Amino acid sequence: MGHVVGVIGGGQLARMMIAPAVELGVELRVLAEEQGMSAALAATGVGDYRDQDVVLAFAREVDVITFDHEHVPHDVLRAILAAGVPVHPGPDALQYAQDKLLMRAKLEELGMPQPAWAAVHDETELQAFLDEHGGRAVVKTARGGYDGKGVRVVSAPTEAEDWFAALAEFGDGAGSRGGALLAEELVDFTRELAQQVARRPSGEVVAWPVVETVQRDGVCAEVIAPAPYSSEKLIEVAARIGVEIATGLGVTGMLAVELFETSDERILVNELAMRPHNSGHWTQDGARTSQFEQHLRAVLDLPLGDTSPREEWSVMVNILGGPAEGALDDRFAAAMAAHPSVKIHTYGKAPRPGRKVGHVNAAGDDLDDLVYQARAATAFFQ
Ligand code: ADP
Repeated sequence: MGHVVGVIGGGQLARMMIAPAVELGVELRVLAEEQGMSAALAATGVGDYRDQDVVLAFAREVDVITFDHEHVPHDVLRAILAAGVPVHPGPDALQYAQDKLLMRAKLEELGMPQPAWAAVHDETELQAFLDEHGGRAVVKTARGGYDGKGVRVVSAPTEAEDWFAALAEFGDGAGSRGGALLAEELVDFTRELAQQVARRPSGEVVAWPVVETVQRDGVCAEVIAPAPYSSEKLIEVAARIGVEIATGLGVTGMLAVELFETSDERILVNELAMRPHNSGHWTQDGARTSQFEQHLRAVLDLPLGDTSPREEWSVMVNILGGPAEGALDDRFAAAMAAHPSVKIHTYGKAPRPGRKVGHVNAAGDDLDDLVYQARAATAFFQ
């Protein structure tokens, strides 16, 4: 196995693999969607990840292919494998992160705890699901959703009629017309958690401690690691769910499992991401091995690093582009000057309102102070 890793997608996740790649002595190449993206520092190619010829030309120059996002079409992934280049995570695993209906069916087969769900093909089936679940449900598009954009709480089937119409007209994104939406019970959760694990092709799996994630407007806003007020049992159950899913689905590289915790201490799987994930950014400054370094080790089938926390607590707060005027660089400098104990990570992106342009990590033993410091540093960008 050589040491040239090709990343498809030039966003901030690819960008944050660059520093650990340098440290590991791994050569990182990036196929970016356009010029000037977050990972431009390592971009060796610019092209459409849906174009088989473009992707194959890029893949032939590297030892292994991995991703910044989950949108590379199945046929393109198969073509890379057919050309003899390993792909991690491979298409057989990745399909479960690309399609929420496939994921629900597979997790059921593995006996994983999850919300009650059904594939609904039309408004009549959605009405039947609503009748069985107290008149309200969460409806999701199976494919293509992110940051809450394919998720709606509904109490009548008409509230999803545009999505049913789009299914009938354009299909479900998997190449066929028709298909179904995912209906889920509306979980009355007390908080959201995320479990990070990494798995190598040869089978080794490691887990970080489960974290609490706070979402605002469907977007991850803050993470506290480890999740506060967690019993030994909760930590163990979450880690076991992560390990069983990684193994059961044959995931290679990083896996993030988003979870709901309910008031009766149940943990239910919400969704999966097979790549470094926003809920794992705290590991850069709070764990012995970051998710970005671990992802590179895992896709190269190298021994995995220690996942234990460096400090008692870590806090991550996202920086979203706000209405504030003025050059971003000036605001970064002001935030750094005011809060020297935190680490400010920047993505090299233009600050459109609501767009993730960076994050702040703080680690130490005084949780209240860490939350204060991290939030105060991000306030410079609002
Ligand atoms: P996306 O793929 O867009 O991130 P998710 O499936 O993670 O979508 O859902 C986004 C958010 O919607 C979740 O973080 C959670 O807050 C809420 N949500 C999703 N599913 C449910 C559910 N079954 N019950 C209650 N809330 C839900």
